[in-house]
Amino acid sequence: MKKLSTVLAALAGATALSFAGVTSLTGPGVADEIPILDANAEDQLVAAQPAAYFAADSASEAAQLTATYQRQVVVGNGDTLMALLVDNGIARREAHTAITRMSEVFKPRYLKPGQEIVLTLRPASAPEAADSLVSMTLVETVEREYVVRRDGDGFLAETLDHPLEMEIAAAEGRIEMSLFLAGEEAGVPLGVLADLIQIYSFDVDFQRDIREGDGFAVMYERFVDDSGATVRTGNILRASMTLSGKERSLYRFETEGGTVDFFDDDGKSARRSLMRTPINGARLSSGFGNRKHPILGFTKLHTGTDFAAPRGTPIYAAGSGTVEYAGRNGGYGLYVRIRHNGTYKTAYAHMSGIARGVRKGTRVQQGQVIGYVGSTGQSTGNHLHYEVIRNGKFINSRRMHLPSGQQLKGDELEAFLVVKETADVQFAMLLRKDVEFASTDTPGATCQGPESAPC
Ligand SMILES: [Zn+2]
Repeated sequence: MKKLSTVLAALAGATALSFAGVTSLTGPGVADEIPILDANAEDQLVAAQPAAYFAADSASEAAQLTATYQRQVVVGNGDTLMALLVDNGIARREAHTAITRMSEVFKPRYLKPGQEIVLTLRPASAPEAADSLVSMTLVETVEREYVVRRDGDGFLAETLDHPLEMEIAAAEGRIEMSLFLAGEEAGVPLGVLADLIQIYSFDVDFQRDIREGDGFAVMYERFVDDSGATVRTGNILRASMTLSGKERSLYRFETEGGTVDFFDDDGKSARRSLMRTPINGARLSSGFGNRKHPILGFTKLHTGTDFAAPRGTPIYAAGSGTVEYAGRNGGYGLYVRIRHNGTYKTAYAHMSGIARGVRKGTRVQQGQVIGYVGSTGQSTGNHLHYEVIRNGKFINSRRMHLPSGQQLKGDELEAFLVVKETADVQFAMLLRKDVEFASTDTPGATCQGPESAPC
């Protein structure tokens, strides 16, 4: 157990007091009498009494409140709530009562190492006595905490929820050095960038197809707390990649069957049976100069496509299928091969580790993590060596022609086009780009063009 900080909460106490004071004065008893105060001088005297009473009460409360202090503790391995409270100077008996109350909202056995607990304590009045517990707050997540607070002689327990607010964010960037750097510069969280790459990984080889001057754009959900800080991100709603001058936008859409996928302008799914980039591409080593590089693995006839990435970068199953081989395999090092159907197999070599549960006969889903980038076997640097095998022959993953995905039709296509239009408008507004509205409520406020002032 670590004591992060011990804060004398004199100031916090004072703040709490003034807040409590205001609440009391505007409480029903006083507030009801305020209009009479103004209207009738006689009642003024009567009304003044409760006010004075509240003030006196607050003053005595102040003495007590300012005396409390806070301790922030982080649960360590093997810690129990009891040990934690006793270590912080609480009498066993009181700790037991508080824990019993806490168990009404949170089972102490679910206490996890790393969890944060904030204790508000009042120093003992006598030298030998233990400090007393005013409140104990267990922070479960940013969104939820459990609180036990003193209530007369006992304690009360409650769950406090702080729901996060969902916002839609948008960003775009031009790639100068690497997609990773461009994303970082545009303020795109790494997880969003990785998702963006995965959405396009059916079509794009992110090691070789990205060139200087290419661009990306993304609109995504993010969840913010009370202070406006992003706690986590959600789904990508609209994505766009401009490669060699050709722009391709994709939109998130849930089909009638409940499948969520990304579709292009015409309602065609971006998903294919295999990925061209079966790796968390946000971490791919960049560099346009070495686009032809890296042939890191073999000096003899090269049978696959190499993706240079830091050790430990997750490798995805390029398509759904059954694991045919998982283990050491000569020069390939740690190696996994997946059989997708009667025609296609894919193989992944030089891994630093194979994902838990991935072994011969395991069924894997497209996009599932099957292992991690390494340099095992005959390899000179961390990279994924990726092979696509069609009818027993190695083929170039960059040139494989796979049937395009599902095409939306009829009502479903109509519904998609509405989603697409909405996303386009929202995206343009978020980036304050030129938007063409059919009509606006306030004529004159329309955007004229990119040169006009932001509106
Ligand atoms: Zn290779």
